[in-house]
Amino acid sequence: MSSQVTPVTEGPRFRFAPSPTGFFHVGGARTALYNWALAKRLGGKFVLRIEDTDEARNRPEWTQGIIDALAWIGVHSDDPTFEGPYFQSNYAADHVAAAERLFAEGRAYYCDLTPEQIQERSKASGKQGYDGYSRDRDLGPGPGRVLRFRVPEGMTIVDDLVRGRVEFANETIEDFVLLRGNGSPMFLLANVVDDVTMRVSHVVRAEEHLPNTPKQQMLWEALGHRPPVWAHVPVLVNEQRKKLSKRRDKVALEQYRAEGFLADAMVNYLMTLGWAPQGETEIVPWSRIEADFRLEDVNHSPAFFDLKKLAAFNGEYIRAMDVEAFIDACAPWLSGDAVPWRADQFRSDVFRAMAELVQTRIVTLAEVPNLVDFLFLDAPIVDEASWDKTFGNAEARSMLETSIDVLADTPWNAEALKTAVEAAGTTLGLKLGKAQAPVRVAVTGRTIGPPLFEALEILGRDAVLTRLRAAADRLAGS
Ligand code: GLU
Repeated sequence: MSSQVTPVTEGPRFRFAPSPTGFFHVGGARTALYNWALAKRLGGKFVLRIEDTDEARNRPEWTQGIIDALAWIGVHSDDPTFEGPYFQSNYAADHVAAAERLFAEGRAYYCDLTPEQIQERSKASGKQGYDGYSRDRDLGPGPGRVLRFRVPEGMTIVDDLVRGRVEFANETIEDFVLLRGNGSPMFLLANVVDDVTMRVSHVVRAEEHLPNTPKQQMLWEALGHRPPVWAHVPVLVNEQRKKLSKRRDKVALEQYRAEGFLADAMVNYLMTLGWAPQGETEIVPWSRIEADFRLEDVNHSPAFFDLKKLAAFNGEYIRAMDVEAFIDACAPWLSGDAVPWRADQFRSDVFRAMAELVQTRIVTLAEVPNLVDFLFLDAPIVDEASWDKTFGNAEARSMLETSIDVLADTPWNAEALKTAVEAAGTTLGLKLGKAQAPVRVAVTGRTIGPPLFEALEILGRDAVLTRLRAAADRLAGS
């Protein structure tokens, strides 16, 4: 072994090495969290490497998107040496130097066959892939010549913490390319050289990379290093048990964030895809996850990314917040272009009065504006289908008229309002549910919303009566 062997005194080192793709996949988020949780539990380090060697995907905003998405779920590089982040494209010279060293040591050789020639040879022999034609031709570097790794004989055993022992017969692995004909390094090489440079001890990554692993393990060894601990994390699938794809499924972490999922709920849910904490509930704080998470306990079949379960997690997290934290979390949802009220119409004291009632009724924060808009607008946004359905019958119209009279002098608190509406309903033969529906639609514009009588109390008598009268006028006019 060379002098570059990983020092044994150092703690474990994990990394997450995404390639920018334009958005940040929830599967990537789970892989990052697995690495992060282990680095924390084992007192190790976590480094972020951006694998940006694909020119077409090399956009600064995509990289920033990854960094922001990771920051949202609490993950960041925590090794000052590689705080950067580390951009793979900056290290091409190191990748090439490593390949040239392998050439100098006879572990790699140049080949000038074109893809067409390789195909012809393969057709003639009936054997798939490259046949090692240039192994002993002693070619030096030159334009159009690729550098290939000389795969040794024997077996490569990958000990994978999730999948167990996976054996590969080396004769099934062709002499793979390290440097392209134009001298640029291939992904397999760059990935290993960077892991060596970053002194990575554990490679925890997506299952799709498992076929690369024997080749990379050979490279680690050929470069004079003990290979890392491997773990390949199973794919995420949708309800039809198909691999999550960006064409079919909602896979961007950013989108969940934009829809009002909480980071803590998302983190907890992602960590339970294929793994569960000990105990009765999967909804546990990060401290428990960090203490309990082990790769050996990760299920090796595909994990179902269940939107309903995620929503349930989110609802639970929202309900568990203390009301002040909930009000703070709502702030971004209560202003800006997406809300139907003007900034000067919003009243934080009114929202505060309503907050607890909203908190128990939502699954995502994005639902908040719809539940409270009637409190800030001069007139409610009327859902026409609800209007037609509610006022399609004569009792509802009578109930509206009656409630205008009754509410004019009912004491203004939720309990008294409820008693008054209930009593008014009784005189018309309506149960409470039917009796309050016309009031709700007239005041809030919708059939569903926060508890009605509390909402009326908060809105105040004048606004409520104005809306009831406006609804009656509209009905009289129609
Ligand atoms: N850049 C690769 C990807 O995003 C990851 C490779 C690795 O983790 O080793 O799929």
